[in-house]
Amino acid sequence: MLEEFIQKLKNLRTDKNRKKWSPLTCYQAPHKPFVLLSIMDHFAQGVITKKIIEPTFDLVETFNIYWQTIMPLGTKGNMAYPFPRLQNDGIWRLIPNPGFKDRINIASIFSMKKLREVCVGARFDDELFILLSKPETREQLRFALINHYFDKDIRAAVLECGNVNIKAYEYSRTLLMLNEKANSYGNDTENKSQNKKVRDQGFRKAIVTLYEHRCALCGIRMLTPEGHTVVEAAHIIAWRESHDDSPTNGMSLCRLCHWSFDEGLMSVSKNYEVMVSKRVSTEKNFPGHVLTLSDRAIFKPEDNSFWPGQENLEWHRGKKFIRS
Ligand SMILES: [Zn+2]
Repeated sequence: MLEEFIQKLKNLRTDKNRKKWSPLTCYQAPHKPFVLLSIMDHFAQGVITKKIIEPTFDLVETFNIYWQTIMPLGTKGNMAYPFPRLQNDGIWRLIPNPGFKDRINIASIFSMKKLREVCVGARFDDELFILLSKPETREQLRFALINHYFDKDIRAAVLECGNVNIKAYEYSRTLLMLNEKANSYGNDTENKSQNKKVRDQGFRKAIVTLYEHRCALCGIRMLTPEGHTVVEAAHIIAWRESHDDSPTNGMSLCRLCHWSFDEGLMSVSKNYEVMVSKRVSTEKNFPGHVLTLSDRAIFKPEDNSFWPGQENLEWHRGKKFIRS
């Protein structure tokens, strides 16, 4: 049974345009392998409990992490292509949305919006679902996939990406359970670079989830058709000073607000209102809408134990914020 699925995985139909795809991905498009690897990571995290695999935002993020780690800078992957098309390889069947009456036309799906409009997700065969649920057989499928679709020079990087994904997820869960300062992760010097990746990715996951992908300062929430989000996870007291990843030392901020916050042009008052530096009003090139945010309530997580910590905000107002 396992052998049969390994063969199926090796026979995925992929774009084999040699001009477009590099030897690192064996001259093939890596979309389908990346979706399957992302799903395997989610199995390992224990977040897949139902037989229907939903095209969740988290899955898109994991897919994008693989893409950004392995593929050349500046290229973008879109999970809306491979997700429905894996049905043509006999990997799974799409489950139409109850409200969607027509037959699903796979060729017409190019965006996550459209994908979610037509289907709730995809369903594996019972046997394959069991093989993916068990750690030993899941690892065998994962190795088969990586060995077949990636050159030996980057196989270790693909494997590491998966390991970081799993550890970062665990780290984000820890951050969301702790009430005290979270600075205990990865003190060993041996795995320095991996520890940093796990911390960054785990902190980001916890913060962005708490803030529902919304910028705490300006309220913007924007997702591209590929599922890229405009927000980043910002530390209120920088990591290098605080070594503190607890959610109360973080906020999700769009790129402009993140930059403005780090530069001291924006801050947050005791009453959780946006503060804008006077310097912004005298700087002609600064977007005018930033001024309109002054004194507006910031966007906060639902659970008040995750709101930005008063002592962290006080530090930022005192040490970073440029008042005049
Ligand atoms: Zn913003």
